[in-house]
Parts: sequence; C-alpha cells; structure tokens
Amino acid sequence: MNDKVTGLILKQDDYRENSVLIHVLTKEYGKIVFTAAGMRKYTSKNARSLMPYTETEFTYDHRENRTFFRLRSASPVRMHRHIYEDLNAGLAAGVLAEITDSMTYDDPDGRNSVFFYDLFAKALDMLDEGKRTDIITAVFMANALNRAGMGPEVDGCVICEKAQVTALSAEEGGFLCQEHAAALAVPAYPVEALRQFRLLNKAGLEHYDILAETVADAWNDIDILADFFRLHAGMKLRSYDLFKRMGSIE
Ligand SMILES: [Zn+2]
Repeated sequence: MNDKVTGLILKQDDYRENSVLIHVLTKEYGKIVFTAAGMRKYTSKNARSLMPYTETEFTYDHRENRTFFRLRSASPVRMHRHIYEDLNAGLAAGVLAEITDSMTYDDPDGRNSVFFYDLFAKALDMLDEGKRTDIITAVFMANALNRAGMGPEVDGCVICEKAQVTALSAEEGGFLCQEHAAALAVPAYPVEALRQFRLLNKAGLEHYDILAETVADAWNDIDILADFFRLHAGMKLRSYDLFKRMGSIE
C-alpha cells in the first residue's frame, strides 16, 4: 500500500541482529515504531534519515490500531547536522526527546502529540542553529510541565497565593512567601533568581532573543525544573545528568 507519514525521530534502539527500532512522533498517529531490518544494507543517506532528531518521511504499510510497522523506506525532510557535531546540543536534544517521549505516552485524543511535535521541532531547529542550550532546555521543560498541568506556581505563594514571595521549592510546587518558607524550612532565594525563574516559566521559545539578553545562566533553573519532572511527573530523566555535567563545564 505504501502509506507515507512524516515524523520526528525520538530515539533508535537495537533490535535483534542487525535491525533497529525507530521511535517516531507523528501528528497523525501519535507515537509509532518502525522496524528497520538490515541497517548495514542501508546506504549512508538512508542511515542518516533514521538518526534521532531528524524529521523524516517514512513509507510503510499502515494498519489500523497498530503502532508498530515494518519500514519500507525513509527520506529526510529536515536534518539537524549541528546537533551531531556539538556535544551539548546533542545532549540537550536527548533530554528534550526523553521528555517528549514520556509526555506523549498516553495521548488518546492526539493533542499532546501535535503540541509536542511543534515544540520539539522548534527546539531542534534552534539547537541546530547553535542557540544556547540552557535557555532552550529551560523554556522547553517549563512549557512541557505547564502543558501537563504540573508547571511551577510562579505567580504567588503556592500555599497561600500571597504575591510577595521569598523562596522556591520544587517539592511544594513553586514559590513560597516568607511565612510558608519559614514554616517549611525552605531557605530564602535571591529575588533576582526568583524573577528569572518566573520569566523562563512564562516564556515561549519565540521569546529566545529577549531571554538570551536577560538571562546570563539558566542552569540552576534547569536543575529545579528537572526536580519538578522527577517529583511531580514521576520521570527519571536518565539523559539529564550527563547533559548537566557537560553543560556546566562549558
Ligand atoms: Zn504563603
């Protein structure tokens, strides 16, 4: 039948001898998996079109209510070469792919798939352009948490809604006023750091230029957002530790 679908490759796993599983996010069918047999027989062009973070058009035989298909052929729509050449960009893409993968796992009406497809595609383009990995990752993480209804409360104290805040706690779910920070023994936070965290949580990727001017370093914000994923989304975020380690060195 030779059906076609365009998708973003989230990851590639080895599968049996000389085969791979290609995990793909599509707007039409959510997440689907292709088996590509005999990878070594593929020409280098085909192999490139199956690399993670590539937007690729796949030809295969679609069957209703299946999410697992044998791949017939693949051709790249949008490659992200810089992401393979730049270690930090590659590690950031890995973190975003893991989040996208996890957040689209249960998606009966398909809306999360469309949302994350657009968000992930945009973030990949920006990483590929060599833009700052800390800002892109922070904004992506905040957008993903907000989409899942698990975003940090940054408009006031998470407990009493008081507008004047002095601390931030991932465990509690956001900002804390002086009284509740003291009651929970959460140390005070510099007001500038609270302001920056709020800014990153309110922003979209389209605000990158403003953020790049205002935010000197978003690594601490990313750390806190990673805690939100672990504490509130139950995600292990396996790809995060190496990304953090390498990124902080730069
Ligand atoms: Zn309070």
